[in-house]
Amino acid sequence: MALIVQKYGGTSVGSLDRIKAVAEKVAQACGSGQQLVVVVSAMAGETNRLFKLAEQLSEAPYPRETDVLVATGEQVSAALLAIRLHALGYPTVSFLAHQLKILTDARHGQARIKSVECPRILQALAEGNIVVVAGYQGINDNGDITTLGRGASDLTAVALAAVLKASVCEIYTDVDGVYTADPNICPKARRLDRVSYDEMLEMAGLGAKVLQLRSVELARRYRVPLVVRSSFYNGSEGTWVGEEDRTMEDVLVSGVTLDNNQSKITISGIEDRPGLAARIFGPIAGAGIVVDMIIQNASADGRADMTFTVARNDLRRALELIKTIADEIGAGGTRFEDQVAKVSIIGVGMRTHAGVAARMFQILAAEGINIEMIATSEIKISVVVNTKYGELAMRALHDAFLGQAGAEAV
Ligand code: ASP
Ligand code: MG
Repeated sequence: MALIVQKYGGTSVGSLDRIKAVAEKVAQACGSGQQLVVVVSAMAGETNRLFKLAEQLSEAPYPRETDVLVATGEQVSAALLAIRLHALGYPTVSFLAHQLKILTDARHGQARIKSVECPRILQALAEGNIVVVAGYQGINDNGDITTLGRGASDLTAVALAAVLKASVCEIYTDVDGVYTADPNICPKARRLDRVSYDEMLEMAGLGAKVLQLRSVELARRYRVPLVVRSSFYNGSEGTWVGEEDRTMEDVLVSGVTLDNNQSKITISGIEDRPGLAARIFGPIAGAGIVVDMIIQNASADGRADMTFTVARNDLRRALELIKTIADEIGAGGTRFEDQVAKVSIIGVGMRTHAGVAARMFQILAAEGINIEMIATSEIKISVVVNTKYGELAMRALHDAFLGQAGAEAV
């Protein structure tokens, strides 16, 4: 009998009516002869509400206790769904992370899964039950509750699908799939039928919010096919996320993303000698700040300027560190810009087609948009522009590469 994992996000279980609708969907899948493991998120807004409660009592809520608190959101929705399924006549068992042993490291709030044990799930399934699992939570070696990071119910679902060797992991959400761009910004955005793990990873990493990044990494590593679908609307097949196939290469660009929360730091007049880049970026990495793009331009007098981007939230901390380092290494100075956006085009077709970058730059030039930084990978080209041009750049690129059928030929 096929085993599938379904995951329902916060809006999908956001009210009792929604939970009833989800129960109907689960019952339907069960009726078609499949074994079902259902992972749920907390009801929409609940996790934020819990975090706010903690913040009202402490400026820096103690991480272990915060996890005890915020993990309750998923416990509630798991229990409610199981109660509803019972009421519909479907034997159901709900499980929390400690009952299964979803074992993680001890990093509260950002824990990583070490192992998942599922004999209890297998037994419950064998006894004819639907299994409901609370997403987002784990336990560490001491048995203390941990959480896996915001949005990480997706990760719970993929981890279970991997361990249980499920035939598919269906992610139900409030949109009917992965789109070529954010439809709020690009009215011509359309749903993708298929997208490769690599493309999805780039899209998730670059701000497409439909799937949590680490869940896509895990799905790729364990070859778990994902389907992203709406729990509100039945008339769409959703988006399939899986191995790349040959036909995918025919499409040059699969998606365009915009990240408006970037900032840029420059250290100028750095002496040109071995070890200085390590000296600069070591402490930044040590502080857990993710550096994205880095450019170094050497000048004639043997000194160089180094410019890099960090998320705007990290700007203040990064600047403090950088100022100290700049003094220590005798650099000329530091400056920053906090209003920058990163616009990216993504597509596996770039591996085998030349000229995509040139075309991208032409499109931006035609809109009079200045490019401040450029970074490329095999299947992605990103540019940094002033925030005020971010949406315009995204629309122009989307409509040129993806707006109409056939428009993507270089
Ligand atoms: N409830 C958690 C959050 O809001 C996990 C999730 O929804 O995936 O981040
Ligand atoms: Mg989510």
